[in-house]
Amino acid sequence: MDKSLKKNTYLDFAATSPVDERVFNAMIPYFRDDFGNSSSIHQWGQRSENALENARISVARTINCKPTEIIFTGGGSESDNLAIKGTALARRRLNGANKILISPVEHPAVSETARQLKEVFDFEMEYLQVDEYGRVDLVDLEARINPEVAIVSIIFGNNEIGTINPIRQLAGICRQALVPFHTDAVQAAAHIQMDVIRDQIDLLSLGAHKFYGPKGVGALFVRSGTPIIPIQTGGKQESELRAGTHNIPYIVGLAEALTITNENMNSFHEKFIPMRDFLIDSVLASIPDSKLTGHPSNRLANHASFVFKGLDGNELLVILDQHGFACSSGSACKVGNPKPSEVLLNIGLTPEWASGSLRVTLGRTTTMEEINSFIRILPGVVKSLRK
Ligand SMILES: *Cc1c(COP(=O)(O)O)cnc(C)c1O
Repeated sequence: MDKSLKKNTYLDFAATSPVDERVFNAMIPYFRDDFGNSSSIHQWGQRSENALENARISVARTINCKPTEIIFTGGGSESDNLAIKGTALARRRLNGANKILISPVEHPAVSETARQLKEVFDFEMEYLQVDEYGRVDLVDLEARINPEVAIVSIIFGNNEIGTINPIRQLAGICRQALVPFHTDAVQAAAHIQMDVIRDQIDLLSLGAHKFYGPKGVGALFVRSGTPIIPIQTGGKQESELRAGTHNIPYIVGLAEALTITNENMNSFHEKFIPMRDFLIDSVLASIPDSKLTGHPSNRLANHASFVFKGLDGNELLVILDQHGFACSSGSACKVGNPKPSEVLLNIGLTPEWASGSLRVTLGRTTTMEEINSFIRILPGVVKSLRK
């Protein structure tokens, strides 16, 4: 019997990744031995405070900012919320800026936040134009940016279609216009070296569990001088931008995971890119009426995403799971709700194509053998579902 068919294979690392062993070990002391509240005066508090500030220095060094510009949060979604709500509300108070510009291919943590600002807080919200790969049009941003814009938010590396945006150029346009620029780098930070000075970014969101850190912890870079108010009020933690007792083990874990990611980025690329490209080429060659979604080369190193014409993507995921392969459609839609993804429709795919989406994302433990057995079964599964 073919053992490889029995083995379960996780190919959904863009959804989440396991905690790295070194990260786990770095976190452990702060659950029990050094459990103090970092706001306390005594030595327990001081030990936690030291761990917190060392984590802050480490993250700041990695993304090229000052430690005081790092705000620890409860995850990527919270970082996005704080960046967009906090800055939009502050800018409106300061000079009446009342418009939000986002791309039409954002993660819901950004798009739903912008939608709430529009529907509940009376902001105007506009989508920037994207090309067929989901890259934001520089000329369109240039044409629409003005002092009325409170904040621009554009995703760095797309979770659904893998495309990397020209962030440096986009941020440069906002800098010229003196409008704060936020990027959701939750997915991108696992594969691209972040540098907020090089890229002229004002606000940047990170989430640890996408780069082998724990779930439920994130960070937000806020360039000093950027208008922003807290969304979660209370104690004076995090420069009074995020109230609540620090989750020291998780913050230590985030810093350690980000350090490991950056120190090994080149070797991860050397592993991922040939595997990813082999997977993409094989799928497109062996399955009729299939398309790659997102940019063919300017995409996240571990990310392959497809659409298959005339197929229910959720059914595909269920059958793949029965074969032992954990993949994703790339969007948040659940079984029984076959609505095609907004992101795929917004890059110009028809519902007939967009309904049949599949995202395959590789991880540090993924082997060529796993990719080969995946490629062996996929064409048959697609064919059976089209009947
Ligand atoms: C996962 C993800 C988020 C949400 O992060 P959480 O830590 O899960 O809240 C936001 N944006 C992108 C692009 C993501 O991939």
